[in-house]
Amino acid sequence: MTLLQTDLELTKNSYYAATAPRGQRYPALQSNVDADVAVVGGGLAGLSAAIELADRGYSVVLLEARQVGWGASGRNGGQAIAGLACDQSVVESELGRGDARLVWDMTMEALRLIGQRRARFGIECDWRGGYLGLAVNERKARELRAWHDQMQRDYGYETRWIAPQEMPQWIASPRFHSGIHDPQGGHLHPLKYSMGLAAAAASLGVRIHEDSAVTAIQPGPVTRVRTAQGSVSASHVLLAGNVYLQGIAPVLESRVMPVGTYVVASEALDAKLAESLIPSGSAVCDTNFVLDYFRPTADHRMLYGGRVSYSTATPMNLAASMQRRMARSFPQLKNTKVEYAWGGFVDISMNRAPDFGRLSERMHGAQRSEWANVYYLQGFSGHGLALTGLAGKLVAEAIAGDAERFDTFARIRHRPFPGGRLLRTPALVAGMAYYRLRDLL
Ligand SMILES: Cc1cc2nc3c(=O)[nH]c(=O)nc-3n(C[C@H](O)[C@H](O)[C@H](O)COP(=O)(O)OP(=O)(O)OC[C@H]3O[C@@H](n4cnc5c(N)ncnc54)[C@H](O)[C@@H]3O)c2cc1C
Repeated sequence: MTLLQTDLELTKNSYYAATAPRGQRYPALQSNVDADVAVVGGGLAGLSAAIELADRGYSVVLLEARQVGWGASGRNGGQAIAGLACDQSVVESELGRGDARLVWDMTMEALRLIGQRRARFGIECDWRGGYLGLAVNERKARELRAWHDQMQRDYGYETRWIAPQEMPQWIASPRFHSGIHDPQGGHLHPLKYSMGLAAAAASLGVRIHEDSAVTAIQPGPVTRVRTAQGSVSASHVLLAGNVYLQGIAPVLESRVMPVGTYVVASEALDAKLAESLIPSGSAVCDTNFVLDYFRPTADHRMLYGGRVSYSTATPMNLAASMQRRMARSFPQLKNTKVEYAWGGFVDISMNRAPDFGRLSERMHGAQRSEWANVYYLQGFSGHGLALTGLAGKLVAEAIAGDAERFDTFARIRHRPFPGGRLLRTPALVAGMAYYRLRDLL
């Protein structure tokens, strides 16, 4: 099965789709139109950029192959977490201490942006504050404690340390040793949030077209972006298509690897039981490399994510295996039914840092300059719920003439996966096997 075929299967039994019926739909593009900016992709990155550009007075057309929020943005674990998927040491070694601090501060800005947009546009998306990062054993706890101390010292990042004896107040689980609590993180219903951002963008004059897959990009001073039935001529283009771009910008593809990850939602629990499991109602991640991530929903379910797949195949017996995973953390849920099981693909970069840039920076030869006005955002590496919002803002700043913050991210170097577009999987599997082994040991 191809990635897109698997992905279509993976969307069918989503809790989010079942609890956020699509109201507004947006018509397919059926003519040739002009705009200042064409945005490819109606996920959180593309929608955020569209809002920020419209705010700055640009005319924007956003093209979405399927429906807004159809990709990772409408299916994720809903966890809004500080920082990047990679450790800050990766950013420090790429950019130096000073700019690494700027990057960290921007990730905190990304968290605040969610609150600002919810308030400004009145987006109802079940937001609940609080994030717990938990260690599963003493060794992991030592690493987490060192990280907590270092982040406080070097980045002014204040989280509360939770010692082993305090853990029962935070989580009713035998699996966790100790952890941190960050009140600035939190969680939300990502499909409601994505659809809310789309409505907000439309209200600002962004022309959104669903069922409008971009099939080709013709570069030049005015770039032409083509769909099956129309085109957009724009002076700037943003590619925000995650792992689904599928051929329209091949130079980007070997820089990220599509990795499947999966989520289930339990049946609705008794409200008291649900509250007793995570009394603060926070989102939770363990600190393993292949991590479990979970949270309560507004209607008292346990929403539990984990597992990864490096091929396009969905794991066998997904719901049952995830149920066992959930019961490993919460034995109280041993007999609880899983009602929804779904998943999606994350765009992992080699060093897990986000990969932002302009296509001209990825090209060689004479035509290079023709691609200078085509921006891209990818490589969120499973940690994009909040960061996509900030990323869209940075693209809008760059198009408006202030590229300093965008270029800070763009200076992070990325190596392509060995084997390129077609053979990148075996190298990744070998790398992941090593980290999994470390988790187990
Ligand atoms: C199961 C899962 C759980 C996750 N959990 C979390 C979490 O808890 N916290 C967190 O921070 N992150 C999480 N993530 C990651 C996060 O969801 C992503 O980083 C983020 O949503 C990426 O947003 P995006 O806009 O870049 O991509 P997407 O949301 O995937 O949007 C890309 C869009 O572009 C469209 N598109 C692609 N190609 C074309 C084209 N040629 N023409 C037109 N449209 C096109 C696609 O149809 C798609 O809708 C998770 C991801 C998954 C899959």
